[in-house]
Amino acid sequence: MLEPNAWFTEIHSRDGSAFSLRVRAKLHEERTPYQTIAIYDTTDFGRLMVIDGCTMVSDRENFIYHEMMAHPALFTHAEPRRVAIIGGGDCGTLREVLKHPGVAEAVQIDIDERVTRLAERYFPDLTTANEDSRAQLLFDDGIAWVRAAPPGELDLIIVDSTDPVGPAEGLFSAAFYADCWRALGPGGLLVQQSESPLYHQRLLEEMRKAMQGAGFLDVKSLFFPQPIYPSGWWSAMLACKDGPIDGFREETIGARPFSTRYYNAEIHRAAFAIPEFLRRR
Ligand code: SAM
Repeated sequence: MLEPNAWFTEIHSRDGSAFSLRVRAKLHEERTPYQTIAIYDTTDFGRLMVIDGCTMVSDRENFIYHEMMAHPALFTHAEPRRVAIIGGGDCGTLREVLKHPGVAEAVQIDIDERVTRLAERYFPDLTTANEDSRAQLLFDDGIAWVRAAPPGELDLIIVDSTDPVGPAEGLFSAAFYADCWRALGPGGLLVQQSESPLYHQRLLEEMRKAMQGAGFLDVKSLFFPQPIYPSGWWSAMLACKDGPIDGFREETIGARPFSTRYYNAEIHRAAFAIPEFLRRR
């Protein structure tokens, strides 16, 4: 038990800011070959997973991130059947993907099996789809997995990774995007978390250029709140292999056979609106 009124704080020194959650107890901490994972019990956000000092998921708000990593891309693709999730070890994105009855297979490749094992133990709501017969959980380097993937077989690649440092650094590289482009079939989509639009503008620009350089014909950003990440505001980048991203299957959203807590057709449209300061010059 921690002292009463203890806080977990993530400091963002480069941007002179910090984010804190009041915590009751540290439930777990371990150093894996890849990173340090800690689990806290917070007073108001439920459980919290932290990797290398950075907040990953909390019970209270993870639905926003996981829904936005999955549904905008899945409702943009005409018929997504084969999905790969790179990273995503907490399994929340996998759960959202498998809500789509048309998805025939979803393979998740996280480098660190311990993230998934700890999610199963401390975030059971996130791992409810792990036993789905369409799910395959692999523990491997996502960069090497995509490099070795057969060409043209995937409809959607979701990169749900940690920040672009350590094992995730190569997931933000032009070479990785070129491998994704090759692994995708016609109409294939890549969606990747792209950090804070306020704090990491240069990264957003570099990702866009690298994706275009790798051959993706259209690249668009989507924005959503992210209460526990730096600046409280987050983004993802959606890239289409061989055509424009100019619509989504809006009619099927209303008729979806599952519930969401954040995502709907209005949110989808609004997420793609570009703030003035981010418009390309
Ligand atoms: N929502 C989180 C965020 O934006 O901060 C990401 C959550 S998820 C836990 C991130 C996962 O990426 C971690 O489990 C980590 O092990 C995984 N990861 C990092 N580098 C990887 C790589 N090269 N291949 C596969 N998984 C990787």
